[in-house]
Amino acid sequence: MFTMTPVLVRNFFSKRATRRYPKVSRHPFEKGRGAIGNDIARCTFCGICAAKCPSRCIAVDKKKAAWQWDPFACVYCGVCVDSCKSGSLGQDNSYRRPAVVRELILLKGSQDHGKEASHHSQ
Ligand code: SF4
Ligand code: SF4
Repeated sequence: MFTMTPVLVRNFFSKRATRRYPKVSRHPFEKGRGAIGNDIARCTFCGICAAKCPSRCIAVDKKKAAWQWDPFACVYCGVCVDSCKSGSLGQDNSYRRPAVVRELILLKGSQDHGKEASHHSQ
């Protein structure tokens, strides 16, 4: 009991180590790796992000100008963002909200844009 006394006294007078969530929440870290977003108008549907993704959670269909992301399989490593040459992929610094239903994020772009972009890249 007496060996614990200094610790108890110190804890009693020191600042609280925890936050009163949800009243007080922590701001996201500046370089935190959160949700992936795709500015689909800039996407060329090259498929590099899907090829580089270590957890295979991106699917790209160039013919349909479709880009799909599975946030449940994503490990938020940022490899896809670093490999996207068009700069259309970005990563938020805040975490995604918990979800009870598994949903895939499907974005559709312009097929003309995809064709045009592939023509330019050759
Ligand atoms: S790497 Fe970028 S441009 Fe290529 S398919 Fe992925 S998001 Fe689109
Ligand atoms: S952050 Fe990593 S795991 Fe998630 S989609 Fe991009 S490459 Fe795949």
